[in-house]
Amino acid sequence: MKPAPFRFTAPGARAELLQTLAEHGDAARVLAGGQSLVPLMNMRMVQPALLVSINLCRELDYIRVEDGALVIGALTRQSTAEQSPLVHRHCPLLAAALPWVGGMANRNRGTVCGSLAHADPLAELPAVALALEAQMVVSRAGATRHVSARDFFVDALTSCLQPGEMLEAVRFPAARPGDRVAFLEIANRSHAFAVAGAALRVTLDADGRCSALGIAVIGGGSTARRLAGAERALQGRALDRAAIDDAVATVGAEVDPIADIHADAGYRRHALGVLVGRALRNAAGASA
Ligand SMILES: Cc1cc2nc3c(=O)[nH]c(=O)nc-3n(C[C@H](O)[C@H](O)[C@H](O)COP(=O)(O)OP(=O)(O)OC[C@H]3O[C@@H](n4cnc5c(N)ncnc54)[C@H](O)[C@@H]3O)c2cc1C
Repeated sequence: MKPAPFRFTAPGARAELLQTLAEHGDAARVLAGGQSLVPLMNMRMVQPALLVSINLCRELDYIRVEDGALVIGALTRQSTAEQSPLVHRHCPLLAAALPWVGGMANRNRGTVCGSLAHADPLAELPAVALALEAQMVVSRAGATRHVSARDFFVDALTSCLQPGEMLEAVRFPAARPGDRVAFLEIANRSHAFAVAGAALRVTLDADGRCSALGIAVIGGGSTARRLAGAERALQGRALDRAAIDDAVATVGAEVDPIADIHADAGYRRHALGVLVGRALRNAAGASA
């Protein structure tokens, strides 16, 4: 099935891109890697009048460290981030999650920001952004605002982006001393979307106690979801077996798993408890 008719434009610069989005508002859709948008258009689930490609805006293709954050521009491919030494050093949780995003062919075209803007409830990167409390850099012609990951993901395939706006970049707080991270997921086959997953960062203080936590899950609701109860159960404690068991015990009540052809809600709820426990033990290393 072919897409409904559409017009296409590919601005060569950021200012022209934002101006085009401002002029066309709701009728325009940003085209980044096309790995999600094009299949949706082919199934006519999305029918934009105008596709605005960002693929000629080279100034949006960057990874840099700025003011204590790792900043990734809108045109940066998932595979570029996956192979970036800056990502491995400053954002190990993102480096751990990227290999799970589809197959290499998808990651060679798909963008980091595209995955965030698409906001698929079973995508890996929204959970990473939530666990790390990333900031989304949202721009329109003449204005830029910063939105927390918590406020960015609104519902399945729905972000807080308004007509005329684009996700220009994402800022991940850089790794801190004492950080332990883990990413785990269950999928029905390799390169497929997750059935359930867990992304976490735990910062241990000098006494080995949890001083800061970010635990987010995939498949636990219509968006990636933070587990405040599990974080509270661990706050200020050593990351040992008893503390991890207490955290895992909170997961079932804190998620509202989706049911689909891949898994029912009961299976996902159980799997999320198992994955959070395993991820915390991985983060704790031999000590748990
Ligand atoms: C076979 C296959 C397997 C896949 N497996 C996985 C998987 O396991 N996990 C996973 O997370 N994803 C998976 N994907 C999806 C893939 O990661 C996509 O790359 C990603 O979802 C969207 O990124 P994109 O750059 O391709 O965006 P596009 O497909 O171009 O756009 C997706 C949506 O986001 C919007 N958008 C894109 N960029 C921006 C921006 N900068 N500002 C505002 N709006 C924007 C578009 O308008 C569109 O609505 C898979 C895709 C395929 C084809």
